[in-house]
Amino acid sequence: MGERLSLEPCGHRSGIPGPPPPHRSHCAYPPAFTTTGTHAINKTTFGDLGLGPAITDTLAQLGYEEPTPIQAEAIPPLLEGRDLLGNAATGTGKTAAFALPLLQAVPGIGTGTTPRVLVLVPTRELAMQVSEAMHKYGRALGARVLPIYGGQPIYRQIKALERGVDVVVATPGRARDHIARGTLDLDDVRAVVLDEADEMLDMGFAEDISEILESVPGERQTLLFSATMPPRIRSIANSHLTDPVRVQIDDSPAPGDAPRVRQTAYVVQRAYKPAALVRVLDAESPTAALVFCRTRVEVEQLVDTLNGRGHRAEGLHGGLTQEQRDRVMGRLRSGKSDLLIATDVAARGLDVDQLTHVINFDVPSAPAAYVHRIGRVGRAGREGVAITLAEPREHRMLKNIERVTGQQVPQQSLPTVADLRARQMEVTTATIREEIVEGDLDHFRVVVEQLADEFDVLDIAAAAVKLAHQASSGGRDDEEEIPEARVRDERPHRERGGAPQSGRRGHKGPHQPAPEGMTRIFVSAGRIAGIRPQDLVGAIANEAKIKGREIGAIQITDRFSLVDVPAADAEKVIAALRGGSLKGRKVNVRRERPRT
Ligand code: AMP
Repeated sequence: MGERLSLEPCGHRSGIPGPPPPHRSHCAYPPAFTTTGTHAINKTTFGDLGLGPAITDTLAQLGYEEPTPIQAEAIPPLLEGRDLLGNAATGTGKTAAFALPLLQAVPGIGTGTTPRVLVLVPTRELAMQVSEAMHKYGRALGARVLPIYGGQPIYRQIKALERGVDVVVATPGRARDHIARGTLDLDDVRAVVLDEADEMLDMGFAEDISEILESVPGERQTLLFSATMPPRIRSIANSHLTDPVRVQIDDSPAPGDAPRVRQTAYVVQRAYKPAALVRVLDAESPTAALVFCRTRVEVEQLVDTLNGRGHRAEGLHGGLTQEQRDRVMGRLRSGKSDLLIATDVAARGLDVDQLTHVINFDVPSAPAAYVHRIGRVGRAGREGVAITLAEPREHRMLKNIERVTGQQVPQQSLPTVADLRARQMEVTTATIREEIVEGDLDHFRVVVEQLADEFDVLDIAAAAVKLAHQASSGGRDDEEEIPEARVRDERPHRERGGAPQSGRRGHKGPHQPAPEGMTRIFVSAGRIAGIRPQDLVGAIANEAKIKGREIGAIQITDRFSLVDVPAADAEKVIAALRGGSLKGRKVNVRRERPRT
């Protein structure tokens, strides 16, 4: 391998034409823009970054309006063939940042013979997600993308590989398995992506990754993405990347930039997000709210959903003409609509006095964008509310926003149906109280007096309240409970903040050291691989000849398990588990690294 990584400052390979270094973004999002009334100009397009029409047309169909910061930074050097070391978490648009340029620039994509691009990811979930995204982005180029991960029958993957693919998205264990069988031919691979590299190391895949990289020709482009940059990642970067461009989205807002608004986040599964949005709007009853989403398509879908649920929503996105935009804004200002659903691009320069709520339908791709979005409310001493709907996988981005802004974004449970009904009843009560105070009820008194000959006055009042309540709450009684989503945050080391997922045997979680006399063992398979406590107990008891009752606490997370075993037997257990298999797959087993 030629030149080695120079981390600071970011190196630019001499002699290579292209944009000047460094590819480092400082508060690049949202980019500088000028506004004329409500209209924004000066935006970077995907085409400006060097992407051709096959891809830009696809992105337009997907409703992507502009590149996210990491895309703007990464795409040009990747199109030039540079290696890349990227500091980025899920949710920042990282997948498209590497997928788009590789799909366009790697020779042979679309021929579907041997793989040209290999993406390594820590989990099966991510393998499917990245592979779907790459399939979507590369459709017009005829790219054939195959996910390969443990847990799926290997013969099916072998057949698919034989049919020919351009891109393989694999978990390291299964990739190594195929390499060993001779069913994954890496001779023509021209680009390798290590995605969520820190997660892969945490899961014990370091050795697999090194072996896989040895099987790929040296003449290749190598990309490494990691949310954190511990020394182990730097060391991998040092040995496997050549003069990489370093992309670090340094988007910390200036101190004091974050406005003082009431901030709340709800963690919701994606499928329940529209229902959660309706629930939040019903519970908050904002005077006027701005809902941010990522794409044009999402804007249109949400406008339909909300209008179908009795709201008066308008959509604002980059596909509208200035005239349409003005009309939408006019209706909002005059109070004819009270909900604006917009993309970031379309909402630039937007200043609406009445706004009381900003709602992030997704966690924005960068903390600066979050600050920018929520800065639309809470102006001039008025009260403002910012609500964020986060998917479990976006939890880390939320933590990052808290860290960067220095402000807490407390997570709450979504209002239940009962909470909602109680809140609606409060609104009805308050409205009736106002009417009584206002007086001018003579007309209606006459009706009550007439009815009082026949009925009890309290019954008459109750019936009138019922009618008023139905009218104000839209008469809806079809609400369903929205299930609580579990946060996906299961890193066993320092970055971890949240509560551990508890195991069957009253495990105290990975924060607590193993009890006196016990050693905690890490096993690189968890719930996703179908591991249950009895599988671990069975394997340990049979292979290491230890009695089940001597085995201590067991914790099973999605991707790995932790088991406490008597310290004196730890080596025996590790050797036995390494030699055997769990649910038919080989696992990495080691002592859990103590937290430092
Ligand atoms: P990722 O960080 O790759 O997991 O992407 C997070 C989400 O953002 C995915 O749902 C993508 O479809 C979406 N996304 C990526 N890039 C853009 C963009 N430029 N505009 C709008 N949405 C995007």
